[in-house]
Amino acid sequence: MMPQGATQYIDWMLSALLTRANHARLALARAARPASQCHLCRAWQSEPVCAACVQAWRPSVRRCLRCAIDLDDDHPDTICQRCEDQSPEFDRAIVALDYSGPWPSLLARLKFQGATALARPLAQLLAEAVQPRRGATDLVLPVPLSQQRLRERGYNQAWLLAKAVSQNLGMEARTDMLARPHHTQRLMTLSAEERMLQIQEAFQVMPHAHAALAGRHIAIVDDVMTTGATLNACARTLLEAGARSVSAWAVARTPARPDTGSETADTTARVDFSHGLS
Ligand SMILES: [Zn+2]
Ligand SMILES: [Zn+2]
Repeated sequence: MMPQGATQYIDWMLSALLTRANHARLALARAARPASQCHLCRAWQSEPVCAACVQAWRPSVRRCLRCAIDLDDDHPDTICQRCEDQSPEFDRAIVALDYSGPWPSLLARLKFQGATALARPLAQLLAEAVQPRRGATDLVLPVPLSQQRLRERGYNQAWLLAKAVSQNLGMEARTDMLARPHHTQRLMTLSAEERMLQIQEAFQVMPHAHAALAGRHIAIVDDVMTTGATLNACARTLLEAGARSVSAWAVARTPARPDTGSETADTTARVDFSHGLS
């Protein structure tokens, strides 16, 4: 039998140790999620893009069910005229945002400036857009980069987005199935015909991936959808390889009618599907 004083001392010691362990655990948790500034408004909080900014810069937009272009309020149909005239290869395009306001600079930082931490919050917005229309999709692939471009950049921003969005939605994501075997010139330096040919022949299903693709419902992910030509070419390649269906998912889409009212952007957005810039 220990004297009562000794028992009380041991109780006190144990409780002091537990308190200290609890403080250490909380400090570690805080260190793992440091306060940071919102990338858009610079407010201090724990998310890379704060909820207030998302709400302010994600207006509800009526979009074509096939290609996700924004539709005039008085447009009588759910499909735009271009899709009526010539259906894209993909079943549906789903986008989270218009490529306008603060989003182009944020997407440029993800793509060109190594701000890979932006992939997760942007993929979260994409997942929220996809959720109601995900259909039977069970496999998520990124638009691939050529080996040379991948070496230059060090990462494929579309793969970062595809991984994050697939985790969010509980789907498989793979980056070893679709490839871009040739390094092509920057498409903007080419004529429309040259661009069309290059983009149509740019993608290839890896030989080992044919069996795994057959009969699958696939989503192909990119950061920005401009004319849709890149996503369209990916979809065609996957369908020819035996995919059952292909959806196109992008964080942002160049709007048909940008806020600035710029005629140039309007013309660019309305180029035919086969004349891509991306
Ligand atoms: Zn903010
Ligand atoms: Zn359309």
